[in-house]
Amino acid sequence: MKPAPFAYLRPATLEEALAALAGQQGAKVLAGGQSLVPLLSMRLAAPSMLVDINALPDLGHVTVSPGGAGDGAGEGVRIGALARHADVLASAEATASQPLLAMALSHVAHPTIRNRGTTVGSLVHADAAAEMPMVLRLLDGSVDVASVRGRRTIPAAELFAGPLESTLAHDEIAVEAFFPALGPGAGVAFQEIARRHGDYALVGVAAHVETAGGEVTRARVGFVSVSDVPVVVDVTDALDDPAGAALAELEPADDIHATAAYRAHLVKVLTPRVLADAIHHARQTTT
Ligand code: FAD
Repeated sequence: MKPAPFAYLRPATLEEALAALAGQQGAKVLAGGQSLVPLLSMRLAAPSMLVDINALPDLGHVTVSPGGAGDGAGEGVRIGALARHADVLASAEATASQPLLAMALSHVAHPTIRNRGTTVGSLVHADAAAEMPMVLRLLDGSVDVASVRGRRTIPAAELFAGPLESTLAHDEIAVEAFFPALGPGAGVAFQEIARRHGDYALVGVAAHVETAGGEVTRARVGFVSVSDVPVVVDVTDALDDPAGAALAELEPADDIHATAAYRAHLVKVLTPRVLADAIHHARQTTT
């Protein structure tokens, strides 16, 4: 199918882009187009105007900000709205600061899609089958957004409203995402099962643990493709049965790719494995 007709604007400044969005209720941001363009072609989205942000300056960065600096968010990886998945994956500095980014990104689609798709776009698209929204939620990251009304920071816990629905207003542009660094004594791990490498996960699981003196003091597990929004479960008090604790909070569903029972089975298999990997990683980072 072909998209419905739309106006197209490629502004050269953020101010111009924000004014265009504010002036037209049906306008939508176009970033890498890897999710939006298929939706247009299938006529599942029909915006009156596309505001293409690819010519905006200063949004392609992947930088590591030092702890205690600037806005007080601490050390972590800052990813601009035009940084492609491939840019983040290629950043040795980002991987050293927060290894979970590369662990998860290597499962996001295929190289051609990662060359064009943006990490920030994936967060705003808010697909519960996508890896990076869950990673942002697990790490308690945030997204900075701008509009003609000013700027605000949305914590990950408040970013995901429902299936494919973020809490950005229609006239807001996400300018940067912040993923906190791996702290001392902390460890992370990620695994997923997909039909083919690069396909959306049937189930994906990530873990983030904190340890002191080799003992686990906090353990959280995040899930991809088992609910309408990215879900994180605290399993600190359920280290002997983390999958049981997780399944009490998850609602796996049937779809054309897998049954709910198969997804629950994958949660049972992957959760203890990924948690063990994260604990191992934490103990390695402290020795
Ligand atoms: P776009 O498609 O341009 O936009 C997506 C949505 O976000 C639109 O509603 C747009 O208006 C909005 N938006 C984008 N950027 C901003 C912004 N800065 N501010 C405000 N709104 C914004 N993803 C995965 O996570 N895992 C996968 O396994 C995976 N497999 C894929 C396989 C295929 C074949 C394809 C085509 C895509 C796949 N993707 C996968 C999606 C890919 O990661 C996309 O790049 C990503 O979801 C969206 O990023 P984008 O820059 O392409 O956004």
